[in-house]
Amino acid sequence: MKRISIIVPCLNEQEALLIYYRKTSEIMEGMKEAEFEFIFIDDGSSDRTLDLLRQFKERDRRCRYLSFSRNFGKEAAIYAGFQYARGDYITVMDADLQDPPELIPQMYEELEGGQYDCVAARRIDRKGEKPLRSFLSSMFYKVADRISKIQVMEGARDFRMMTRRMADAVLEMSEYNRFSKGIFGWVGFQTKWLEYRNAERVAGETKWPLPKLLKYSLDGILGFSTLPLALSSYGGIFFCGAAFLTVCFLVIRYLIFHDPVQGWTTLMCAIFFIGGVQLLCVGILGQYLARTYMEVKRRPVYILKENSDEEYAQKERERDERKTDTAAVSSDFCGDCGNILSFTEHAGNHCRFKD
Ligand code: UDP
Ligand code: MG
Repeated sequence: MKRISIIVPCLNEQEALLIYYRKTSEIMEGMKEAEFEFIFIDDGSSDRTLDLLRQFKERDRRCRYLSFSRNFGKEAAIYAGFQYARGDYITVMDADLQDPPELIPQMYEELEGGQYDCVAARRIDRKGEKPLRSFLSSMFYKVADRISKIQVMEGARDFRMMTRRMADAVLEMSEYNRFSKGIFGWVGFQTKWLEYRNAERVAGETKWPLPKLLKYSLDGILGFSTLPLALSSYGGIFFCGAAFLTVCFLVIRYLIFHDPVQGWTTLMCAIFFIGGVQLLCVGILGQYLARTYMEVKRRPVYILKENSDEEYAQKERERDERKTDTAAVSSDFCGDCGNILSFTEHAGNHCRFKD
């Protein structure tokens, strides 16, 4: 029987988590042909999320959880989930039911067909989302798709199920600045896309304010394309050419018409413009440099504070120890009458106190 690992990154999801858990496990229990495990990753939550995860683990052996020492971001959480997943098929999904769990059985069937290594979901509308956010997101997908070598589908989610061999390929990509959608595309393999209508968050609030979303978009674009660097050098060549032509024009005009250069305003505008372009190019360079700097430090992608496997193993050990103690103690007593054996001697079926 195949096992499906469901990776769920959670940041302050106390309102949504129980609803998510109930709904998803109900659907998974309906799939008789596969077993499943949840891998919840508490990404440094400050609410009762970790507490809930501990309770899930206590009650349900199919639940495992990891807890980060602080907020490392959703991308780090997904990576940790991949490292700890044991299943034959790996699924990534959000904890707020915006990724419909009803699609999981369909994803499973597609993978079982053997033609695909990944079945991913993409939403075909953004109903309920703020217009500015919607506009920026769709711009991002368009730009990312144009300038990077990998295909970034409009409306693509991290929500997908993949085979073990694709998951192993994802794990090979141990970079610090992570952008999972790009990584999933970069590793290749055949992907089937399932479309669905946007669902609103079941409870709680989005954990992606606009500045965080902007950084995420930059990671996506810069992590998978060096085109901005190339564009800034093309820009440099263009402005050198334009400057050379302007100099030629002014020299010739002076030689023919003896007309010295006039126009302080034009000059200042040109200086500001060129200065701006230069700063922009240095900025682009800086963005790449900063990312290279973080990569060469080889810092861990996340740091664990708690791991349910270890917690549980520790609890099992303690339980076993308690059992052995009881066994040692109980062997000192007679099984028939409960008298302490060293004080008694067996006579027939019962114990008699020694004189
Ligand atoms: N999340 C996380 N770490 C973060 C931000 C988000 O683990 O730093 C999780 C969050 O708990 C949720 C998923 O990532 O399960 C998607 O976040 P959210 O629903 O806030 O994003 P949105 O759907 O609004 O883009
Ligand atoms: Mg969400």
